[in-house]
Amino acid sequence: MRFEFATAGRILFGEGTLRDVAPAASAMGRRALLVTGKSTERASALMAGLKASGLAAAPFAVAGEPTIALIRSGAEYARGERCDLVIAMGGGSAIDCGKALAAMLGNPGDPLDYLEVIGAGRPLLDPSAAFIAIPTTAGTGSEVTRNAVLASPDEQVKASLRSAGMLPRLAVIDPELTYGLPRPITASTGLDALTQLIEPYVSVRANPMTDQFSVEGIRRAAVALPRVWDNGADRAARADMSWASLLGGLSLANAGLGAVHGFAAPIGGMFPAPHGAVCAAVLPHAMAINVRALRQRAPESDALRRYEEVARLVTGSAHAMAEDGVRWIAELCRRLEVPPLRTYGVDDSHIPLLVEKAAKASSMKGNPIVLDAEELREIVTRAM
Ligand SMILES: [Zn+2]
Repeated sequence: MRFEFATAGRILFGEGTLRDVAPAASAMGRRALLVTGKSTERASALMAGLKASGLAAAPFAVAGEPTIALIRSGAEYARGERCDLVIAMGGGSAIDCGKALAAMLGNPGDPLDYLEVIGAGRPLLDPSAAFIAIPTTAGTGSEVTRNAVLASPDEQVKASLRSAGMLPRLAVIDPELTYGLPRPITASTGLDALTQLIEPYVSVRANPMTDQFSVEGIRRAAVALPRVWDNGADRAARADMSWASLLGGLSLANAGLGAVHGFAAPIGGMFPAPHGAVCAAVLPHAMAINVRALRQRAPESDALRRYEEVARLVTGSAHAMAEDGVRWIAELCRRLEVPPLRTYGVDDSHIPLLVEKAAKASSMKGNPIVLDAEELREIVTRAM
């Protein structure tokens, strides 16, 4: 047995933990950049707490998924405000934005110097500025990952800043913050969480530690996700989804992902589709093609046994086959009214480029079997 595992410096989980942020932050810096989603309303209690703890806070609201230009201007603003600490409170976009800004505060130069794929890809040699992540959705797990996804509207792709030094100093997961999530966001972020548990579990980089997290998370999310869809006020189920999302983040940051996220990168770059919604649309089809490919070309593989375990976890049946798990996920996506990719403007003419880009995406390297272009085409066609 040989593996590596790294995560946030400290994790606080539970209802009401938002109140612990300000005291913790006051030990990390004097002037905080406070990154939020487009509404700063939800962060007003935190803002007041920071002031009471003697910290100055410069607000920075982001409307959507962060772009290279936004990180460039945000870093300039944070330097001007002499911020020595970054706190991000919001969905995956706000957290990735804060994580990228903390990295740029700690390192000289421009985001493009360090960006994978479309930038120079230089290593971020210096640690990030102190960074606190507070998710308000249950899905991305970005509070415990070491990368920030940035969009480049010019090149129509998304690429990551990535470094072990980008792991947050503190992750605060307060399920109360997710109580008010609208239904479509509950569904798409919840299915992203489920994807981020299943893909690391069948990944070629899965390790014994991430397996424990994946199994626990899949079991929890399979029960809790339909419950939060039916009743967003179900506190126990909301807490289970926050827990599952955290477990997904721990798993993916240490075991990688697969074909669903391989497609999510180019689709998210080319179309105005939220990350979770893309993953939800692709998940059942990527699972179906992966299981079929494994049966055809690697019937004795460990990955097939793992898909069978996924099926047993989600269905609760000890005799479930891998294909039963695929059917269960497809049925869940129907029940949660997941829109097909055509909703975002994807059509037949985009398939060749999407297949070409997905094959080269960094997440695809974790997929349990190498899929050929025809199989990739089938996944995206079915998801349309
Ligand atoms: Zn994801």
